[in-house]
Amino acid sequence: MKLSELKTGERGVIVKVLGHGGFRKRIVEMGFIKGKIVEVLLNAPLQDPVKYKLMGYEVSLRHNEAEMIEIISVEEALKTDSASKTDNHILSSTADEDDTPGTVKQLREAAMKKRRRINVALVGNPNCGKTSLFNFASGSHERVGNYSGVTVDAKEGYAEFEGYEFNLIDLPGTYSLSAYSPEELYVRKQIIDKTPDVIINVIDSSNIERNLYLTTQLVDMNLRMVCALNMYDEFEARGDKLNKEVLGRLFGVPMIPTSFKTGRGVDLLFHIIINLYEGVDFLDKDGNITPEVADDIQNWHKNYENKHDHNHAEDFAHGTKPNTVFRHIHLNHGRIIEDAIDTIKEELQKDEQIRHKYSLRYLSIKMLEHDSQTEEVISMLPNAEKIKQVRDSQAHIISREMNEDSETAIMNAKYGFIYGALKEAGYEEGKKNDIYQTTHILDKIMTNKYFGFPLFLFVIYVMFYTTFSLGQYPMDWIESVINALGNLINDNMAEGPLKDMIIDGIIGGVGSVIVFLPQILILYAFISFMEDSGYMARSAFIMDKLMHKMGLHGKSFIPLIMGFGCNVPAIMATRTIESRRSRLITMLILPMMSCSARLPIYIMITGTFFATRYQAPVMISLYVTGIIMAVIMSRILSRWIIKGDDTPFVMELPPYRFPTAKAIGRHTWEKGKQYLKKMGGIILVASIIVWALGYFPHNSALTEQQQQEQSYIGRIGKFIEPAFRPQGFDWKLDVGLISGVGAKEIVASTLGVLYSGDGNMEDSSKYTSLYEKMTDDGITPLTAYSFLVFVLLYFPCLATIAAIKNESGSWRWAGFAAIYTTALAWIVSAAVYQIGSLAV
Ligand code: GDP
Ligand code: MG
Repeated sequence: MKLSELKTGERGVIVKVLGHGGFRKRIVEMGFIKGKIVEVLLNAPLQDPVKYKLMGYEVSLRHNEAEMIEIISVEEALKTDSASKTDNHILSSTADEDDTPGTVKQLREAAMKKRRRINVALVGNPNCGKTSLFNFASGSHERVGNYSGVTVDAKEGYAEFEGYEFNLIDLPGTYSLSAYSPEELYVRKQIIDKTPDVIINVIDSSNIERNLYLTTQLVDMNLRMVCALNMYDEFEARGDKLNKEVLGRLFGVPMIPTSFKTGRGVDLLFHIIINLYEGVDFLDKDGNITPEVADDIQNWHKNYENKHDHNHAEDFAHGTKPNTVFRHIHLNHGRIIEDAIDTIKEELQKDEQIRHKYSLRYLSIKMLEHDSQTEEVISMLPNAEKIKQVRDSQAHIISREMNEDSETAIMNAKYGFIYGALKEAGYEEGKKNDIYQTTHILDKIMTNKYFGFPLFLFVIYVMFYTTFSLGQYPMDWIESVINALGNLINDNMAEGPLKDMIIDGIIGGVGSVIVFLPQILILYAFISFMEDSGYMARSAFIMDKLMHKMGLHGKSFIPLIMGFGCNVPAIMATRTIESRRSRLITMLILPMMSCSARLPIYIMITGTFFATRYQAPVMISLYVTGIIMAVIMSRILSRWIIKGDDTPFVMELPPYRFPTAKAIGRHTWEKGKQYLKKMGGIILVASIIVWALGYFPHNSALTEQQQQEQSYIGRIGKFIEPAFRPQGFDWKLDVGLISGVGAKEIVASTLGVLYSGDGNMEDSSKYTSLYEKMTDDGITPLTAYSFLVFVLLYFPCLATIAAIKNESGSWRWAGFAAIYTTALAWIVSAAVYQIGSLAV
């Protein structure tokens, strides 16, 4: 529990102090040291500060400061095994530390046990290997991808090492900690509000200069931190040179070479983390460690002497004057900026409300960067106006003297620092066996002005061709299994509504969807391969110009391609787009990408109305219509509806890597799972509802078609029939459209039932009879085609709308998507029908 939760008269033992280095140092200096007993002298509600007794002294802390101190209370300690024998001494508040050594020892032990749980957050650029470390250390199977932005939420995992427990949090990748993208804000929030004990800053050492930029910002925040120089295998293969000890010293952070592909360096990394966690708050200015703490560490270290790589300088196990690596540095931004930082800091120091949470130096730097989120924090302070005034005048001085705005000046200073540090550490990029060399050569072809685009189209063609041709086989197998299952139930169950529901509702509805799983998985396997190999990033790069013309960004392209599989995961994939505006537009036009759920309807209708020769062109024309509509809508949306500037950002081009089969398998499955979830949930429910609407009111004397006609769904269809007269749809087609609201797959099975009393319409031998029945109802190929256009464009499906709501954060955009797509579908299909009628 937190120290702030202890009531007057209660006692507890200090476990650890949370927060940034400056705060921890101050608190530790006041005597709040692990294992010490603290007693509350006076903690009245609403009263600040609170008075504590600590080692015989009286100290007071503000309430929000006490919130940052983790303790174990007497009751908590008694609950643990070591203190199971209740001892009254421990409860009496008069008992002093020295009077009852036995029970105090118990309390201490409980506290130390609790202390051996370290919260570790993984922070780093996208694609540097955070998730690989997370998986390696925690044995979990999160998705690893060679494509920036794969990790979106924080994932939590657990690991044990050398007597300690680790709670690992895998955070989204970020290039910096400005308030620029949702990921960056999220990572900052996690660091500041969740106050992890230690940060692992994962660095892609084959790309070290850019990766260290984030490190400089983490250093500003004054965090307990270790850097993992990851991808060290590539670094070495390329023949790069670097004195990592020197670099570590320059940054005040240990730099551990690692390769999370093989697990190299992970042990040492965690070993150093333990040392850092236990020791670093107890170093004095000269790097001497408190003897008591040193003893503890040495005792612990004895047990593990032979269990890790000895070749390291960064631990506290060898004497009271350990090393010179750990230290909090003030990364020098040059005189002018540093003066400005100091001046702002002086004004900030007048407040006590926030300094437990933020390093004031960090806040000053962020203010100079005009960081919007920091300004919000500041605006809560009583002297907010004054602080902003000081900032403005300091920013003005910087821009006057340095000829650039303060934000740019700070960034340049940081890069200057990095460049200098790397030079000093003897950094040299090798030429030998450059992984980037291959990448460069490949990129010359892949992103070539002339070949790039045709090559890309070819890849997409192969992808879809394989998906549909190869997918046919498993599709047939699944279909026969489903039919067999239906027959089995048909033969063995008593007649009644329940039987009808299972066969026509559940098996008919869900079954007609599950047959598409193989195709979806194949499509996703291709997409995963393209993501993991690095080609997807190139495709985004190639498409960037074209996407900009649509008011989008190159990165929008990837979700759009994924949309051909299923819109739901595609909408989630828009999270990688930094600009909120591009992201929203991408989400809103995504439903125009004809997802595979629409395929059964296309196959059924084109199979019925168009000769084999025309089937493929008709289907392609639908896909193309969708794309054209997406382009038009995107231009409209970006021009008139969703305003805002497009923030520029780097298009990451990771080196090409050959992805492992395991990674692709996992990645594919991850996406396929979302599809299956949709099937188990919304499609199942929708199938049952559609079935029920068609089944009730029930009259078994009628034929199936008559039954449909007089059922609720038939009545609804008839009721809305006038609305679709301009398209030439009859009530049966309308019913099909309504049923597609839940999931578009259901349209096909519903039409199957309405026209022939047979929901299974994928079998081509039935097309002839279906053709007769539909033409009898007056449906022409033109009606059929405008129906297909309507299906393509209208209300995507409930799951997609729900996904848009989740991702955009409001029902407003979800509602907008639902309405505009339907309106568009109505207009376009009416136009097709009317113009077509004139031509015929
Ligand atoms: P994240 O975005 O930071 O979570 O990065 P991932 O863990 O998803 O890794 C990105 C890619 O780099 C994957 O293809 C990994 O297999 C690969 N990778 C991770 N660590 C190493 C490493 O140390 N060496 C090499 N060669 N590849 C690595
Ligand atoms: Mg990741």
